[in-house]
Amino acid sequence: MVFLVAFFGVAVPLLAGVFYVAHWVSTEFAFRREIVFLVATPLACGAFVVGGFTTQMLDRRFGIRCPRCGQSLTFRRHPERIVASGHCPYCHESVFNAA
Ligand SMILES: [Zn+2]
Repeated sequence: MVFLVAFFGVAVPLLAGVFYVAHWVSTEFAFRREIVFLVATPLACGAFVVGGFTTQMLDRRFGIRCPRCGQSLTFRRHPERIVASGHCPYCHESVFNAA
């Protein structure tokens, strides 16, 4: 869920912005298309890097961490498996109270 929010909320709008600016620069200022492509490609890849950092930031803020080892139980994990097993995938400690 956090990945979807970060991807569609951050990476895709940034990517669309890079494409829009690249198209605008290539048509309004008549730069060569090769130069615009070479500049826009790293910026387009940077949109996904920013999306990844946003995902980690959101997971640190809203995610669930193991009470023993502190690793994230929601980022790059299958929460359904953790709920079914009841154990942390890193330290194998029980993450739910037996009460
Ligand atoms: Zn753990």
